[in-house]
Amino acid sequence: MFRCRVPAFILSIFFMVCSFVSVSNAASETKEIKIVASFYPMYIMAKNVVKDVPGVSVQNLTPPLTGCLHDYTVTTNDMKKLADAQVFVANGAGMESFLDKIIAGHPNIKIIQLAGGIPLIKGEGNEGDNPHLWVSISNAIIQVKNLGKAMGEFDSSHKELYAKNTANYVAKLEALRQKMHSELAPYKGRSIITFHEAFPYFAQEFGFNIAAVVEREPGSEPSAKELAETIDLIKKNGILPLFSEPQYPAAAAQTIAEETGAKVYVLDPAVTGPDDYDAYINIMENNLKVLKQVFQN
Ligand SMILES: [Zn+2]
Repeated sequence: MFRCRVPAFILSIFFMVCSFVSVSNAASETKEIKIVASFYPMYIMAKNVVKDVPGVSVQNLTPPLTGCLHDYTVTTNDMKKLADAQVFVANGAGMESFLDKIIAGHPNIKIIQLAGGIPLIKGEGNEGDNPHLWVSISNAIIQVKNLGKAMGEFDSSHKELYAKNTANYVAKLEALRQKMHSELAPYKGRSIITFHEAFPYFAQEFGFNIAAVVEREPGSEPSAKELAETIDLIKKNGILPLFSEPQYPAAAAQTIAEETGAKVYVLDPAVTGPDDYDAYINIMENNLKVLKQVFQN
């Protein structure tokens, strides 16, 4: 009798422990984390940092063709995406003017801002800091590292996976940076004219001088006076390459081109694009191609 009861007792404890372990395993496997990124460049970073982490999904808050956020007003539809989200990824540095609204409306969401550790460039006049950080590859690397670290802390059971994904993506970005630096080195100090205030960090990284910005705020056409000033500036400086952006109507750039004989090229600040892990890298590779073509002429 006794010989029979002891193993049964031990066996039942063994099964209790086993079932407890399997329940807690199942719980950690199915723990769902939904990350919402404020706009496209943050979304692509989050996709790369999360990649294969189980149970974690990434969504873009704003519609794909929104472009730069600036004065963007979040819609009811956008806000719905936050209802079941645990993490909100923002660029910070003033890009998300609606950030306070999100913090107030969703006090339980972890807000991760990626601008930390990046020296900001002040906008002109009474404009605040320029928020277009990711357009510089070096800044994008810092932002990706910030996100990887923050996600590893937030979802610590997958810390190593986030670290691995972050390191893989950073390695690709570092290769891109090195390639762009070596291929653009001969054109250091060249002047360009851009379409909106998206390129100061890019210009700083590669040593270009932005001689003028055609349109300060996307969506607001430059005034006749601003247009005339830009045309004057181009005429005075000799013909400078003029860069439009795929996200904005190029009417003003076209007018300037016609008045001055300057050629219009497209430089992409990576604020829209395909839903693809390497989208940012491909956009920058294309910018590199365009710049080389422009400066070789
Ligand atoms: Zn912008």
